[in-house]
Amino acid sequence: MFAGHVGAGLAIGRMEPRLNPGLVVLAALLLDVVLWILVLGGVERATIPANYAARRYLLFDFPISHGVVLAAGWALAAAGTAALVARGGSVRPGRVVAVVGLAVASHELLDLLVHVPEIPLLGRSSPALGLGLWRAMPVALAAEAAVAFGGLAWYLRGSDLSRGRRIGLVAVVAVVTALTVAGQTVAPAPPDVGTVAGSGLVSIGVTAALVGWLGRTRSAGR
Ligand SMILES: [Zn+2]
Repeated sequence: MFAGHVGAGLAIGRMEPRLNPGLVVLAALLLDVVLWILVLGGVERATIPANYAARRYLLFDFPISHGVVLAAGWALAAAGTAALVARGGSVRPGRVVAVVGLAVASHELLDLLVHVPEIPLLGRSSPALGLGLWRAMPVALAAEAAVAFGGLAWYLRGSDLSRGRRIGLVAVVAVVTALTVAGQTVAPAPPDVGTVAGSGLVSIGVTAALVGWLGRTRSAGR
């Protein structure tokens, strides 16, 4: 899932318009940043299954980045870090804690909906969770697109962005949704997991930077 996390980040970002929405979207994708770094470092694993052409999703061994208890820990750590950074600025630290913590937690909730039962509670030997909506891929992708565009619409309703910046954000969400849908329907199997991890990190960085640039407002003091 990618576009759905972007939409959730935008929706949650509406709670504090003085916080740059690019940061909130980055928080909503934080667990995947941790995942891909740990995959590149050989600590966690993503597997391209032999029947990828039929399945259209990878399998994961990711107890540190996505385990339920540790994901809550990542949310708390990110919220605490953001509050420290925001100290003394125009953004209220309490709001920063709520927005960043919720954004990170939203990632775990959305992943629990789509992943097959592979998300451990705490550690590799603990029970694994996941509703497995990816097994009904058209349903999963329709739900993800609804979250992406619903989150975008909710964010735009609460913002005073110029027409140009609004169009830019619609374009970003349309592109990430198209890429997500293509990646899980028609795109060929990825060549190797390192490529998936590298392109995942680049996609997250570029998307958060674009949302941050387009979502800047004068009321944010810039
Ligand atoms: Zn994830």
